Amino acid sequence: MPELPEVETMRLQLKKYLTGHKILSVIVNNRKTFQGDEGKIIGGKVVDVRRFGKVSVIDLDNNYSILTHVKLTGQYIYRGPNLKTPGKLSSKVAGGIPGPHTLVIFNLDHHGKLYYNDIRRFGWIRIEKTPDVESEKFIVKLGPEPFKGLTLQVFGDILSKTSRAIKVVLMDQEKMGGVGNIYANDALWLSEINPKTLAKNIGSNSVKKLYEAILSVLEEGMKYGGASELTFVTPDGAEGQYQDHTLVYGHDGEPCERCHKAVIQKIFIGGRGTYFCPNCQKL
Ligand SMILES: [Zn+2]
Repeated sequence: MPELPEVETMRLQLKKYLTGHKILSVIVNNRKTFQGDEGKIIGGKVVDVRRFGKVSVIDLDNNYSILTHVKLTGQYIYRGPNLKTPGKLSSKVAGGIPGPHTLVIFNLDHHGKLYYNDIRRFGWIRIEKTPDVESEKFIVKLGPEPFKGLTLQVFGDILSKTSRAIKVVLMDQEKMGGVGNIYANDALWLSEINPKTLAKNIGSNSVKKLYEAILSVLEEGMKYGGASELTFVTPDGAEGQYQDHTLVYGHDGEPCERCHKAVIQKIFIGGRGTYFCPNCQKL
């Protein structure tokens, strides 16, 4: 599932490509995906694109906003004049655009188009009044996130009050937003903490190391435009590259790059694939 670096990359590109475009019409091929009245956004001009956790919010100048959660396999792909050099479309855009997985098409002025593709169809798009966005239930419930409210102090407090495995806590979006499976694995390896360690048992030095590791892996993720492990593509139609730069995620069976004394193991914690070095990430 796309995590903070992927959704943030998506936000930055949507902002770059959509700002100034006016929505001329909307084609909804799957009503379950698109909630609300598309009539409300016709004629609206994009003024900003914000992000709350994994939800992107496209703000229009007519007081309406388009909220999107791409969930597992949703993809926004832009084609139009703001894409200076339209690159080759990633093969991860299954079926092409428009194709059998294109559920919504936004027709924009100046011959622009924004396609929403979603193979698994878990994602959603919702129209709301802009002033109501921040009181949305899932936005109110969002925990603080790295680079936005999650200070070292707040992070330490969350951990000290939790007796669950640290990896599960990092991925709990109501405790803290934005850190999903790939980056949680890498941050724990980087800070030499075993993913099974109970959050409250982590000493203050390690808490600080982990905090810095989280910021560092997320920054790396954003630098590479996110990870395109499954179906994530950026709105320019290309792929993120972080999957080729992970520290420990997906490296099971390979020697640990830091200690060279053990092989990366894969276990499951909370049902999610967890990668760690049994030598440098001792319990
Ligand atoms: Zn190691």
